[in-house]
Amino acid sequence: MTSPQTPPAHPPEFLDDPFFPDGMTMPDPECPINGGFFAAAAEGRLVVQRCADPDCAARQYPPELNCHVCYAFDMEWEESVGLGTVYSWVEVVHPAHPALREFGAYVVALVELDDMPEIKLMGAVVDAPLNSQMTIGTRVRVVFERTADDLVQPRWRLA
Ligand SMILES: [Zn+2]
Repeated sequence: MTSPQTPPAHPPEFLDDPFFPDGMTMPDPECPINGGFFAAAAEGRLVVQRCADPDCAARQYPPELNCHVCYAFDMEWEESVGLGTVYSWVEVVHPAHPALREFGAYVVALVELDDMPEIKLMGAVVDAPLNSQMTIGTRVRVVFERTADDLVQPRWRLA
């Protein structure tokens, strides 16, 4: 798999402090399927999997072992500028994990990427308005949260 070096529209932004509390369940940054996604995030780049066959070139998220269109196993990574629009959202009010017991409500959005509109990524919006004030169509941009020494995860913030 390759990581094209498309320059982002703006410098990557990393959160100064973690959004989520300690003790959350973490993905494995060494996962053979997702590893490239987290390696790019560690560099402040948001990438989406793309079929390496130029006749197909289908994008997909989340990453999978093979292309969901032509079933080829040769997949690569394509960088997004990390800007998008909230396609849908939910305000999480009940703790979905024991570490969130005292955390309070937060918003998770399904974000349609500007430069890959067929791709929708789900993620927390770190500065979203609460009390059901989030709206579909809100502009967001990617921001990166270091959640462990060896793990960076993309989040969203209001653009
Ligand atoms: Zn394909």
